[in-house]
Amino acid sequence: MSAIIYINGQLLPEAEAKISVFDHGLLYGDGVFEGIRVYNSKVFLLKEHIERLYEGAAAIRLEIPLSPEKMTIAVNETVAANHIDGGYVRLVVTRGAGALGLDISRTSHPQVIIIAANISLYPDDIYKNGMKLITAKTIRNHPQALNPRVKSLNYLNNILAKIEGADAGTVEALMLNHEGNVAECTGDNIFIVKDGVLKTPSGEAGALMGITREAVIQLARKANIPVEEPTITCNDIYAADECFLTGTAAEVVPVICLDDKQIGNGKPGEMTQKLLKLFREFIATGEETLLSPK
Ligand code: PMP
Repeated sequence: MSAIIYINGQLLPEAEAKISVFDHGLLYGDGVFEGIRVYNSKVFLLKEHIERLYEGAAAIRLEIPLSPEKMTIAVNETVAANHIDGGYVRLVVTRGAGALGLDISRTSHPQVIIIAANISLYPDDIYKNGMKLITAKTIRNHPQALNPRVKSLNYLNNILAKIEGADAGTVEALMLNHEGNVAECTGDNIFIVKDGVLKTPSGEAGALMGITREAVIQLARKANIPVEEPTITCNDIYAADECFLTGTAAEVVPVICLDDKQIGNGKPGEMTQKLLKLFREFIATGEETLLSPK
């Protein structure tokens, strides 16, 4: 069935939803996006995703041509128009069409595109038995090159790292920052558990401020699990008791091996499973926003 796409205020059949070949989103990766889950016909943590979208847009001096309130309505309308019960929303804002060249003053009409679709997930087996990871040679963007907090349309270094993973037979890959410390994976945040403490790289280390990451941190704190954001190295992961990834599509995925080195006992860890359970319970509550303000 053809999808109904929101594009600049209109809901159009997929074949009619078009943007210019001069759009700087296409020409230069100039824009921002969000990936959002739909559970039980409700858009999950939409407020948080919209906040991150507008913050990212502001950071690249991209003025989104509608208010966050109108954007919220547009997302909900697109999900309803496509009768999505469980799925995924891709929200994209491009710089708009302009002259060839990087000058943003010669572009106009940023394009707002909303796609509501089904979602492809990691195979079930990974949740039961855990995922293997490799460390990619491609590093995360230097924060002074492109702030990792901005979920920009330019994902090439993540794509290159993901290719390295695929070449090595893994579905995800670990990315280090310019200092050689752990930042995150190509499309997921990473956590380790050591001696009962949950640890994850900070934004300064090159991690995207994942919405799932934040939800898991809050759920852990509520369950009296200590959470820290220290510098983490590959060695810390090799020596961890447990490791897992978080992301909108992934939710909470156990990791059992990095670079052929077994983590913990080589099985999904207890705290990982507890946090996955808490996260799924949180989804089931139908809460619209995170537990406490950031
Ligand atoms: N890091 C990167 C690079 C991502 O693209 C994503 C989203 N796929 C994440 C982390 C996870 O963020 P979220 O929980 O908001 O999906």
